[in-house]
Amino acid sequence: MGPLSPKVILGRVFTTLIATLSCIQLAIAQASELRSAEAPFVQLQGASVSLVRFGYIDLNARWRSPTISVCWEPGAEQFVTEKALVQQAIRTSLERHSALRFYGWATCGAADLGIRIRVADENPVSQVGPQREPGFFGRELPTRMTLNFAFQSWPCYSGKQHCIVAIARHEFMHAVGVLHEHLRPDAPIQCRETHANKPDFRGVSPATIGQVYDPDSIMSYCNNIYDTNRPPDLSSIDAATIRYLYPPG
Ligand SMILES: [Zn+2]
Repeated sequence: MGPLSPKVILGRVFTTLIATLSCIQLAIAQASELRSAEAPFVQLQGASVSLVRFGYIDLNARWRSPTISVCWEPGAEQFVTEKALVQQAIRTSLERHSALRFYGWATCGAADLGIRIRVADENPVSQVGPQREPGFFGRELPTRMTLNFAFQSWPCYSGKQHCIVAIARHEFMHAVGVLHEHLRPDAPIQCRETHANKPDFRGVSPATIGQVYDPDSIMSYCNNIYDTNRPPDLSSIDAATIRYLYPPG
């Protein structure tokens, strides 16, 4: 191929510049996707209020795809009933209210990513959002969760079924990017102070938009999710929060 004429070179530079600008525009569009998505409205004290005022989420912890694999770490094989209860609890809450779909639910292989659940008689816990090794080229890591099906060393006083359902929904909300509601700066001061010294993940990019704390959130320690007088379900604002993060269709 012979040397390119100045006109051709100029044309190629222009094309490259346009392509680069398009990439930058796409990146900006993706970064602002959460903010520009049409925010649903919820009813609060008789008023219709935009959801952008609610939910305490980590903007860094949203999964790119709402279809997420789940597996059980080896050792949970005998908990057939409890595992089915968890799967059902998630289908009738997070999946019902959003585009989230959790699939798999089998015993984990060594290399499985997505959400890996360990069953142990200890404090239930979950990492928040998808995980990566540090650094720009860091590999994808699983999101690790611990659920309790025994409640001996770590007791739960509401009845086993109620506890399993309430805790599973709470931990899965963490796994898809939702933080503790009582960490919000506008949570009641007594509530915040009660839990101020507990070790807690405070988010990489916590979204503190809005000034309305949800006292009924399944993500608030100041809301007794073990109260057997009501179902251990997401609040309407919890539901709207994940609908906002993972809008259906
Ligand atoms: Zn929690």
